[in-house]
Amino acid sequence: MTLFDSRKPVQKLYIGQNDKDVLSTILAQKQAGVTLRKIAQGYGALITYGDVARILQGTFPKRKAKRIALGLAPSAKIVVIGKGAVPDGSQAIKAFQCKCGQWFIPNCPARTHCFLCRPVRHR
Ligand SMILES: [Zn+2]
Repeated sequence: MTLFDSRKPVQKLYIGQNDKDVLSTILAQKQAGVTLRKIAQGYGALITYGDVARILQGTFPKRKAKRIALGLAPSAKIVVIGKGAVPDGSQAIKAFQCKCGQWFIPNCPARTHCFLCRPVRHR
């Protein structure tokens, strides 16, 4: 049994709107003559009129609760390294295969062999 099949498409956790959708709805409300405080009340108690003003300037809130209140996915820094392969059942993005066949995650970019073939030297 494999825990993770890298050939299957990744399912989205948050099926919501993106920044442009939120900005366009707020802009449409503002052009209709709705005040910023009224727009903020529509999103709940967490969103203040200052948040709406900052969104109109292009700055979106980073707090998870505020982003969920706006219908946005929580912000996260995801660094995907395109080098290397993802073996089935692993939870690491980047892994290399040694000549002996063992998968390993390098502790430095120069490592080309697994930790069994080339153990870490303690000086
Ligand atoms: Zn090896």
